[in-house]
Amino acid sequence: MNDNSSTNGDGPVDPQEHLRSLVRTIPDFPKPGIQFRDITTLMEDPWGFKRCMDLLIDRYRYAPIDKVVAIESRGFLIGGAMAHHLHCGLVVARKKGKLPHDVEQQEYALEYGTDCIEIHRTAIEKGDRCLVVDDLLATGGTCDATCQLVERLGGEIVGCAFIIDLPDLGGGEKLAEKYEVMSLIEFEGD
Ligand code: AMP
Repeated sequence: MNDNSSTNGDGPVDPQEHLRSLVRTIPDFPKPGIQFRDITTLMEDPWGFKRCMDLLIDRYRYAPIDKVVAIESRGFLIGGAMAHHLHCGLVVARKKGKLPHDVEQQEYALEYGTDCIEIHRTAIEKGDRCLVVDDLLATGGTCDATCQLVERLGGEIVGCAFIIDLPDLGGGEKLAEKYEVMSLIEFEGD
């Protein structure tokens, strides 16, 4: 099935529910207590990947965007397709130590300890209108740190877009105080 319809053996199903059903949940990965929401199964499905990309691209088709900023690593898969269709540049936000040229970096808090995200200083020009994308929004720490980097380099945040939101972790609410936030599907719990 590679058109825009959504069916199972019993006929049409709600497309949102179908998207949710394509995400594989792996309990206790990468550590006990985490329900890992695995989008590889969604992306392996021709209808599922196309539907996600169509919804995200349609949402921003007429938005003034210069750069899509994709967060490592699953965000790259989404950001590449979006930047291509929206005729924007693609900027990668990577974990510490991966980018070869001069970087701007931002630390952010994890449940235990900190992590650090980096963007090439040359990647954003003053006034660039940027859309930040990732596969999943949990606490919002990674996306918030990425937005801070973009702003420090002179860019403006047009919005933050995700396939999945975990609303119980509160990241969406926190980010929405500063930015426009959208996601395609939600999962309760963490
Ligand atoms: P956060 O900074 O807490 O919003 O975490 C978001 C980042 O961590 C994204 O890059 C996600 O891919 C990853 N992540 C966090 N929690 C999960 C989860 N339950 N399942 C899959 N990925 C997750």
